[in-house]
Amino acid sequence: LVVLDEAYYEYVTAPEYPQTVPLLHEYSQLVVMRTLSKAYGLAALRIGYGIASEALIRAVEPAREPFNTSTVAQAAAAAALDDQAFLRACVERNRAELERYYRFCDEHGLKYYPSQTNFVFIDFGIDGNEVFQYLLERGVIVRSGRALGLPTGVRVTIGTKEQNDRVFETIASMLREKQLA
Ligand SMILES: *Cc1c(COP(=O)(O)O)cnc(C)c1O
Repeated sequence: LVVLDEAYYEYVTAPEYPQTVPLLHEYSQLVVMRTLSKAYGLAALRIGYGIASEALIRAVEPAREPFNTSTVAQAAAAAALDDQAFLRACVERNRAELERYYRFCDEHGLKYYPSQTNFVFIDFGIDGNEVFQYLLERGVIVRSGRALGLPTGVRVTIGTKEQNDRVFETIASMLREKQLA
């Protein structure tokens, strides 16, 4: 069994990102997994889907946990998948805000890793836990890079414009206080 985790599929703009659904015709042991937790914004409903050959789905069905999704979640998922205009708007907003992060980092001399998702990794050149703690105490929760094997930075989830403004202000005050920029 080969499982492709495409949790960030909807956000990706890189032209080399593979389109894997056509591969299902060739590989009967392949499953493409997608979630509605990310770009569709339905994380609390705990719903996603897998695409695979009929034979593979039939084989998995007896082992599937009973009641593993709810009717409400399935109805919401079907409606969300139908509303591609809303999805496009979310993805475009995410991309525009991501680019604001790039500009913020460029303006402040911060190194970052360009992203295909709804987060960005910023390298501050100091302990990621220290950055995490500073931001946490000011109401901004990020993920320390220590847990991700990149100890000198943090991963920031792209929020709304207002949330991101607050992140920028807080990071800017940290840079001033710690005399990093
Ligand atoms: C979010 C995510 C998923 C799916 O999460 P669910 O909320 O359980 O649907 C799968 N893989 C990766 C890498 C993710 O980030």
